[in-house]
Amino acid sequence: MTVQAYDVAVLGGGILGCTVALFLGRGGMRVAVVERGSLCREASGRNAGGLAIQVKPAALIPYALKSRELWRTTADWLGAEVGFEVRGGLSFAFDQAEAEMLESRTKARQAAGAPIEIIGPNRAREIEPGFTGTAVLATYCALDSFADSTLTGFAYRNALAHEGVAIAENTAATGIDRDGAAFAINTDGAPIRARRLVLAGGVWLVEMARWLGIDIPIRCAVPSMTVTERMPPIFRAIIGVASGRLSLKQAANGTVLIGGGWQGTGNAQRGGLDVISENLIGNLRLAHHVIPGLAGARVARTWLGLEAHTPDSMPLVGPCPESRMPLSLAVSGVAFLTGLWWAGCWPT
Ligand SMILES: Cc1cc2nc3c(=O)[nH]c(=O)nc-3n(C[C@H](O)[C@H](O)[C@H](O)COP(=O)(O)OP(=O)(O)OC[C@H]3O[C@@H](n4cnc5c(N)ncnc54)[C@H](O)[C@@H]3O)c2cc1C
Repeated sequence: MTVQAYDVAVLGGGILGCTVALFLGRGGMRVAVVERGSLCREASGRNAGGLAIQVKPAALIPYALKSRELWRTTADWLGAEVGFEVRGGLSFAFDQAEAEMLESRTKARQAAGAPIEIIGPNRAREIEPGFTGTAVLATYCALDSFADSTLTGFAYRNALAHEGVAIAENTAATGIDRDGAAFAINTDGAPIRARRLVLAGGVWLVEMARWLGIDIPIRCAVPSMTVTERMPPIFRAIIGVASGRLSLKQAANGTVLIGGGWQGTGNAQRGGLDVISENLIGNLRLAHHVIPGLAGARVARTWLGLEAHTPDSMPLVGPCPESRMPLSLAVSGVAFLTGLWWAGCWPT
């Protein structure tokens, strides 16, 4: 079997792997992306597309702002629009304890440069007439936006091909060996040799890193998303709550996307994703509580995805010190929003 040789092999074709590959290819390297399925179809194709600055930890605010700028300008650097829409985001606190939590988090985020306003419920109702409930406090960030994650895979495939990056879809990496000064990547297709390696396997990064003898502490979460049938316009802002258990937006086609990290069951190795009905009901009840106009909304579909979490919620991005090879870069635990900057700008 012919072994293809590259400057860099990127294992995992989610948004992080694709972005690293694109920027390295553009920088003049011969790059291959090895993806077990199709590009951007795991977490990167199942997410809510939320680009909300106000929910990011304070330490990540500067990167969230830079990444949002990349999302806003995908037509320039990715060659396609991916449904970027600015709606402004509101987050609500419903009791005193939540209000204190929301206020102190917001102050830390403001200090880090996030343009978030702390407002009362009346002002929140002016901004979003669809909110007819009662709240103690709210925050508003005019920059909060979303994109359409289902469009990203197509956009990346075109951009990578245009840049001359080799795309091996439906090809699983099965192990990594050392081959002199290079990495030999075993796959269930043709083997690949590369002088540098990027591990961008999302929740599967744990397994990939073990091939190099490295233990990476990633927790696998199984958040669910629900979409309703099309409805008349009910609300316009991106809606959240202080506890972080709700993300709500109505797309231009009338469907309402409901999320907030309510968990299902599933396992990165065994698969078998499944909804936990109590959690689904909890998510829908909370959505209805905040936007009462959702009464009568009919669920069209619920799905789940596997999401990587690092112990301190900070990105895991950088050379692997233990690998003793020229460069092996691991990227994970970075949300859709902030990930673009980390993956696109950090390595170059
Ligand atoms: C339901 C849900 C909602 C979310 N909502 C938001 C949101 O609103 N905003 C936000 O910022 N973030 C959100 N996230 C998080 C965000 O989607 C992820 O942080 C981001 O997409 C991670 O990208 P990734 O490239 O690291 O991982 P992935 O997209 O999971 O990509 C990893 C890739 O590696 C491939 N792979 C694995 N093993 C192998 C192998 N052996 N060989 C080859 N390829 C392999 C997989 O097939 C996969 O395509 C959400 C996540 C989920 C699941």
